[in-house]
Amino acid sequence: MHGLQAILTFLAAATLAAGADFSGQSALEYTRRVVAFGARTPGSPGMHRQQTYLRAELAKRGCQVWDDTFTASTPLDPIRMTNIIARFTGRSGQAIVFTGHYDTKVMPGINFVGANDGGASTGFLLEMARVLAGQSRQHDVYLVWFDGEEAIAQWSETDGVYGSKHLAARWNADGTLGRIKALINVDMIGDRDLGILREGYSSPGLRARVWSAARRRGYGSHFLNEGSLVEDDHAAFVRLGVNALNLIDFDYGPSNSYWHTEKDTIDKLSADSFQVVGTVLLDVLHELEQ
Ligand SMILES: [Zn+2]
Repeated sequence: MHGLQAILTFLAAATLAAGADFSGQSALEYTRRVVAFGARTPGSPGMHRQQTYLRAELAKRGCQVWDDTFTASTPLDPIRMTNIIARFTGRSGQAIVFTGHYDTKVMPGINFVGANDGGASTGFLLEMARVLAGQSRQHDVYLVWFDGEEAIAQWSETDGVYGSKHLAARWNADGTLGRIKALINVDMIGDRDLGILREGYSSPGLRARVWSAARRRGYGSHFLNEGSLVEDDHAAFVRLGVNALNLIDFDYGPSNSYWHTEKDTIDKLSADSFQVVGTVLLDVLHELEQ
């Protein structure tokens, strides 16, 4: 190793210390790790390996971590599912929540690894955990990896978003929902060609805050004017009155041809896209904590 290379390696390691700025490269590397487990459908061996990996990573971060396990009744058999929750404790009693799904879709007959759809949200949240570690907090910050976002058979009102429906009901019953100032869900945000929709169920106020933070950073072009309604993991929370936003890029590859296909692989993602979303959401977190 040459001297300059040694310095650069040292600098790279230093910037990856806990509590540092969000690194898109690091988020992409976390995503690569979980994609390497193969299919991560609920209850599968790949999902179990992923859960072990997440728990080991989160154990380094000084946060509380717990499982929210439940049995989902699906069009096939009942399936045990597990949301993983991490909490960085603050002083105010209020809470900010970042969520995403970590399951991949059951796709019989094809080798579906869900790099963007399932992988990107997982890697993004793992990088958030690294950044939040060791910081002093005004509000509690929760990170939630939802299981069972994908339909088990065919998407319908009762087949899909199992984990978020379960946790929204649970947090409604135990009073946690009342402490949530904002909940932001991310889905498929690793796409190289990043364009985040104005998702129509989302809170307009929270969306405006995120869109202006993006403009201030010069990232406005990635946050689109086009909108549509996407039933995703934020929706159960919106229905219960939570100030919630969904950040989703729903145009993945030419004519969305990478979505739910074997083309959803790690080479379709870029560190820059993670960097855009991570930088903006940390700006928003700091604003919400002032
Ligand atoms: Zn999907």
